[in-house]
Amino acid sequence: MADTVLLIVDAENDFFPPNGALPVPDGTSIIPPINRIIVYATDHGWYVVTTRDLHETEHDGWPLHCKRNTWGAEFHPDILLPEVFVVVSKGTRPGEGAYSGFHSPDGNPEHSKLHTVLQRLGVKKLVIAGLATDYCVRATVLDALRLGYEVVVLEDAIRGVEVNPGDSARAIQEMKDAGATFMMADAFMQNSA
Ligand SMILES: [Zn+2]
Repeated sequence: MADTVLLIVDAENDFFPPNGALPVPDGTSIIPPINRIIVYATDHGWYVVTTRDLHETEHDGWPLHCKRNTWGAEFHPDILLPEVFVVVSKGTRPGEGAYSGFHSPDGNPEHSKLHTVLQRLGVKKLVIAGLATDYCVRATVLDALRLGYEVVVLEDAIRGVEVNPGDSARAIQEMKDAGATFMMADAFMQNSA
């Protein structure tokens, strides 16, 4: 099972209510299932990989969030990350937005740092949780599928921004249509044990 990675998307303070700069409604609900899957992942010898927004400036009209060296860019303190995990930063250039963890400056996900790391680790399957369903989770999942990874999304371990009502449902349908499997975290762990 070491060809599987738990990928946690952008679980940074700025995306969580009540004090984040860009809080995802009900975002803290994802923390308990994420903590359970982290234990499961480490018990099964999977690597844990986290993406994070790490910005210098605002982008795409969003308020400034996840600014380097600020509280907002730190991982939520209630998420019990393992002793060893991989961090992939994105959106680090001024004005750069990077919804996908597979963002590459040249626009080709095959050249992204995340894909390079996963290839070196021999990863074939990604189990994905994090924020937000309709932006960074969506973009990361769609790129992962294009790159040929098998993708399971833990549906109780994601939440959406919902700028427009229905955005999350549309994003989930789009990910399913592209080939992602959606499961509740506990059901996933029981079925995979
Ligand atoms: Zn951002």
